[in-house]
Amino acid sequence: MSVVSTAADYPPSWYAASQPQLPARAPLSGQARADVAVLGAGYTGLTAALALAEKGYRVTVLEAERVGWGASGRNGGQAIVGYGCDQSTLEHLVGNADARLLFDFSRDGMHMLKQRIARHGIDCDWRDGHASVPIHPRQERALRADIITMAQRYDYPLEWWDRSRLRQQLASDRYLGAMYDPASGHLHPLAYAQGLAKAAEAAGVVIHEHSPVVRLERGPKPALLTAHGRVDADFVVLAGNAWLQDIAPELETRMMPVGTYIGATQRLGAERAKALIGNDMAVADVNWALDYFRLSRDHRLLFGGQASYSALPPPRLHASMTQRMRRVFPQLADVELEYVWGGYIDITRNRAPHWGRLSPSIYFAQGFSGHGVASTGLAGEVIAAAIAGQSARLDVFGKIPHGVFPGGRALRMPLLVAAMSWYKLRDLLW
Ligand SMILES: Cc1cc2nc3c(=O)[nH]c(=O)nc-3n(C[C@H](O)[C@H](O)[C@H](O)COP(=O)(O)OP(=O)(O)OC[C@H]3O[C@@H](n4cnc5c(N)ncnc54)[C@H](O)[C@@H]3O)c2cc1C
Repeated sequence: MSVVSTAADYPPSWYAASQPQLPARAPLSGQARADVAVLGAGYTGLTAALALAEKGYRVTVLEAERVGWGASGRNGGQAIVGYGCDQSTLEHLVGNADARLLFDFSRDGMHMLKQRIARHGIDCDWRDGHASVPIHPRQERALRADIITMAQRYDYPLEWWDRSRLRQQLASDRYLGAMYDPASGHLHPLAYAQGLAKAAEAAGVVIHEHSPVVRLERGPKPALLTAHGRVDADFVVLAGNAWLQDIAPELETRMMPVGTYIGATQRLGAERAKALIGNDMAVADVNWALDYFRLSRDHRLLFGGQASYSALPPPRLHASMTQRMRRVFPQLADVELEYVWGGYIDITRNRAPHWGRLSPSIYFAQGFSGHGVASTGLAGEVIAAAIAGQSARLDVFGKIPHGVFPGGRALRMPLLVAAMSWYKLRDLLW
């Protein structure tokens, strides 16, 4: 049985407005049994479910709201090779050999993302190309050095575009050049999440929406419990992003939810949109408090960048997003943001991914640190493989050490705000 969806099912965004409203899947009611029970129908949970079903497992997914309701249906859509931290951080954390393995997994993750889209015919507007753009000379020097390191140590080809080459594609004078990655790209996030859910269901996965998990029963045969039912399973996968506080408190201490925001302009028309980003690539600057943007299929500019380290959106959000957009593109002085929305990212202290097991039967993946469009799919595949007995890749992720955020639930946010203010100041000064 399905229930008709309402507009309030998804937070208002251009993504929700540009996708057809799909009937909601029935909530869990009563007792069910699965080989694997998955909490969360974002990219992590859905790709784990899909990969497990393709291996022959019976999988049930419980989603508190709707498929792609969380970060997976709201993000900037920039699918980038790598993780939330750079490779030098991983080298420092796990040594050069494992850092290389982790990078190769990530390349593979990007390949799998494109294959998944093609294999399941997911209509999500995939576009090739991503540019990381420096504003300050020190950032340009760092990007140029990165290109050499990535070629020499990681066999990964990136291009350096000088200012005039970049200007041919991007109508902004703000940047000194670009590190261009032809293998990364962008997509329509909610369409991708909904396509994943459809593919998972075609492979036999059962998805219940409007089914918030209220308790995880641990032990060799774990279970996920909602107010109206339970799923008993051999394995549980926790893929709840920033919302697992009451389900797995030990994960909460190593992850900080941070609000980030994005907007969509009114329609610009094909010609005006193409004049902004000629080759339709995704763009992100390399500031700590970064701006990132790309075009939509209906010729809007999607522009993201504000962050908030409290439970509230920043004051004057709409106005400050518009101001940031016009700082990059002064020629949009007459253009307004028609939609502005936000969501939570789950950052770790070192911005490295935090994936692993809480016990032999309970797996988790968190800490995508704002860099999850591609790596969530890898997490799903890596966890599915580990459940099927091939844990070599998960074991490498397990070597990454993760510190707890100091201060507990009450104090860690103010401490992070202080730390972030320092990095923002650094963006301005150097
Ligand atoms: C505004 C914004 C912009 C971003 N931009 C980018 C970008 O351009 N590029 C990039 O790589 N990354 C970006 N990210 C990050 C990226 O979107 C995430 O890393 C990724 O979507 C995380 O996927 P997930 O499946 O782990 O979590 P989510 O998509 O958040 O899914 C978790 C799901 O679990 C459900 N859930 C939680 N608790 C429960 C419970 N108790 N019971 C049942 N269900 C539960 C939630 O409802 C949710 O649907 C952005 C994030 C945001 C918010």
